Amino acid sequence: MCLSPEEKIGTRETARTTGYEIMGLKIWLNDKLVDEKEATISVLDHGLLYGDGVFEGIRVYNGKIFELEAHIKRLYESARAIRLAVPMNRDQLIDAVKKTTEANNVVGGYIRLVVTRGIGTLGLNPFVCENSRVFVIADNIQLYPEEFYEKGMKVISASTVRNHPLALPPQVKSLNYLNNILAKIEALDNDVPESIMYNHEGYVAEATGDNVFIVKNGIIYTPPVEAGALEGITRAVVIRLAAQENLQVIERNLTRFDLYVCDEFFLTGTAAEVIGVVEIDGRVIGDGKPGPHTRLLRKKFYEYAHAKEK
Ligand code: PMP
Repeated sequence: MCLSPEEKIGTRETARTTGYEIMGLKIWLNDKLVDEKEATISVLDHGLLYGDGVFEGIRVYNGKIFELEAHIKRLYESARAIRLAVPMNRDQLIDAVKKTTEANNVVGGYIRLVVTRGIGTLGLNPFVCENSRVFVIADNIQLYPEEFYEKGMKVISASTVRNHPLALPPQVKSLNYLNNILAKIEALDNDVPESIMYNHEGYVAEATGDNVFIVKNGIIYTPPVEAGALEGITRAVVIRLAAQENLQVIERNLTRFDLYVCDEFFLTGTAAEVIGVVEIDGRVIGDGKPGPHTRLLRKKFYEYAHAKEK
């Protein structure tokens, strides 16, 4: 399952997907919708200079914004942790997200909600930045190819160690993704789409943009957030869905060995949803196909996400 050069390198066109002309989006910027070409951020914004800001990636299914409350809560908590004042209250933010989604006729797609520290000086001091900025983009989404879901993905173990939780709490979904990007580069250099990141103690933290789950002897395991994982919203939904199916889920530290000898392996995330992993570092998982728990949870997730009433 080698990646095509396009999948490996990516282009603006492939990354941007279809449906809207370049320049055609309506973007929420601070307090109103503007045309994409007017949606600009200063080069002195600390979001750009230092990755100083927070964000959310949110799905839209059947015109409904998926788990919006949970995303808004996580955004405010991320902001609070880095002492970033979100310049809008919860209701205003929800309204901005909904209006942006509607203005772009996004029925099935992806929303990016970003809060940056705002314009400051060339120094690090965040408190000289006067106004934090908010923008919201709603667009189509680029998904993994269907083949990845049917056949499962190959991954590698990244040598890039996950940020120490005392360096940056993993719950903070910050604009600084360099730690994950370095691990993503390792994956792409090895012709696989994802890599697994381990923490400073060698325990599994997460994938570069997804949470990790394994199944062993019928029990589902996932690393605790303290191991260095973002508290994924898809992860939480999958844990709930597993409980509804009377499947046991245990949060505990996992080692590389646990991944090598598990019966099933899957990742969860807003974009990937639930996706099976069938090989890690050349070790085939189970019978080399996404296993029954993975397939069941993917199906339940699909039904939950596409349900008319939630
Ligand atoms: N970990 C990281 C580092 C992520 O960026 C993401 C989101 N792409 C996830 C896990 C999954 O979180 P969620 O299910 O909320 O998208």
